[in-house]
Amino acid sequence: THFGFQTVTEAEKRERVAGVFASVAESYDRMNDLMSFGWHRVWKDHFVASLNPGFSPLGDPPRAPQHILDIAGGTGDIAFRLLHTAHVVNGNPDVRVTMSDINRAMLTVGKHRAARQLPASQQAALSFVEANAEDLTKARPLVPYPPDHSTSPDEYTGSEQPFFDPATATTGIPDASVDLYTVAFGIRNFSNIPAALREARRVLKPGGVFACLEFSKVVSSHPAGALFDAVYKEWSFRAIPLIGQLVAADRDSYQYLVESIARFPSQDEFRDMILDAGFVVAGDGYENLTGGVAAIHKGMKP
Ligand code: SAM
Repeated sequence: THFGFQTVTEAEKRERVAGVFASVAESYDRMNDLMSFGWHRVWKDHFVASLNPGFSPLGDPPRAPQHILDIAGGTGDIAFRLLHTAHVVNGNPDVRVTMSDINRAMLTVGKHRAARQLPASQQAALSFVEANAEDLTKARPLVPYPPDHSTSPDEYTGSEQPFFDPATATTGIPDASVDLYTVAFGIRNFSNIPAALREARRVLKPGGVFACLEFSKVVSSHPAGALFDAVYKEWSFRAIPLIGQLVAADRDSYQYLVESIARFPSQDEFRDMILDAGFVVAGDGYENLTGGVAAIHKGMKP
């Protein structure tokens, strides 16, 4: 190159952009593995299995169509599992997933991953929406990112249009349009959690389910629990920021991550917030995973 000037073909540019997104996704996935000792995969598998998307109690047929909204979907870990379970495990191709996130770059990484990893039939049942979980009336179809990067080099074959009526693009995700709302490792980042819960209730159909997987509070009443809690605190407050610095050259983000986990309400407090938003819950309203390091909360819209 001369003084930074170079001629790059469109194809080369697209390839480079794809490379950047792939490496972001890979380092994101690697960090998740390092920080949780790979547990996040087990938790995500369990979360989706417990929701059993696409399952019809009445047998096959009839197969009930389902619209699932995955909020703070990031790079697609939950959306892809939901599609696989519904389409492959439960043999129900009438399940569609709208994957949404506030961050366009994360969603774009998700779209590239979908193109590489999902069969065409599953891509066709997946759409991407940019949305702040606190106000889903402003949800919009994913704008290609960067702006000139309109075609995926991985030949993404899925839907470019959101599943909600594009004619309602001014009202975002409509009232009572969703059967299942999922959010995994996202809600603790929201600045107004009650507002997000109210939006969840608004977009769900009556009988629809809110399901959340999030870091939670280690159950420390048991002697082994107390030891585990001490090790866990040491791990999270010392090791995770250090790993963030070494692996991602970004100590501050990982420091924030640990603090946001510590700040997030306890299992009971969060269950009470779900009740306050007008959901009904079964039993305790939550399930602890790995001694409370993470928990699944569920609520039904009456
Ligand atoms: N659900 C994915 C998973 O489990 O792998 C991604 C989780 S990632 C740790 C958290 C995501 O929350 C990020 O992609 C971030 O952009 C998104 N997020 C943060 N605040 C948000 C908000 N107010 N509304 C929607 N998404 C948000």
